[in-house]
Amino acid sequence: MKKFEVTVLGANAALPQVGRSTSAQVLNYNENLFLIDCGEGTQLRLDQCKIKRNRISHVFISHLHGDHVYGLPGLLTSYNHFSRSKKLTLVGVSGLQEFVQSVLKISSGYLDYELEIREVPNDTTTLVFESEHLQIFAFPLVHRVPTVGYLFKEKQSYNINPAAIERYSLSIEEMQNIRFGTSIIRDGIELPLQDLTLSIHEPRSYAYMSDTIYSEGYADFLYGLTTLYHESTYLEDLVDKAIERGHSTAKQAAKFAKLINAKRLLLGHFSSRYDKRQVFREEAKEFFEESIIVKDGKTYFI
Ligand SMILES: [Zn+2]
Repeated sequence: MKKFEVTVLGANAALPQVGRSTSAQVLNYNENLFLIDCGEGTQLRLDQCKIKRNRISHVFISHLHGDHVYGLPGLLTSYNHFSRSKKLTLVGVSGLQEFVQSVLKISSGYLDYELEIREVPNDTTTLVFESEHLQIFAFPLVHRVPTVGYLFKEKQSYNINPAAIERYSLSIEEMQNIRFGTSIIRDGIELPLQDLTLSIHEPRSYAYMSDTIYSEGYADFLYGLTTLYHESTYLEDLVDKAIERGHSTAKQAAKFAKLINAKRLLLGHFSSRYDKRQVFREEAKEFFEESIIVKDGKTYFI
């Protein structure tokens, strides 16, 4: 099974504190690294977690509030000191290009490498990355400013049973088709896929939803998700404040995980008004047992 894991660099809302950084995560799929959000201090967190920044190929930004993006200009210009030669792709909502260009212009910054900035709509889903085994989609969230979440979805693929190659005299083209689950017809009869392939695992998926109010709008799109990261800035006693500020409570995050039949929920984006994060789990687990509070610097399997 290919590596599919996420390292949380920071999960504090609004501002950094000692030992609590603002939003950033590194998703590792089969040794391909993707950065999700880039709060202040992300470079230090990468160093502390021993993640080489040059290995990151894409940066996915949810929205342009400072606690999700103020680490980005520093990261981009630091690459000049790390002899980055390969292209970096930034994906985010409208305004990302202007944000990056304005900072670079005012501070006379320059980049020694190719930077592609792709802005996506925040009212529909967009396929933003595709490889042989993985698809990444941006999808709308509901917040005070244009915001998108990201879905990392493993493609279903099959390993061919070596015994079937000889038994059915499979051609190279047929083997290629079987790997992606396309049926093979012989004499008008479809060969059963289970005879042609070895046992496989369910495709895994991960969604990042921060920042957002509780919204069921894309529940169908995310149904059956393996691991959900959902913001829980507040507890339920401040639900009115959560709605007013475009955020969610731990209870709402848990309700959404249950609604989409997720296997596990990672809770994050905690308000600094709470000293102990355990209270978020206590509230969430009443509605969704597999609720986990993320810890800065910890890696979670998808
Ligand atoms: Zn925000």
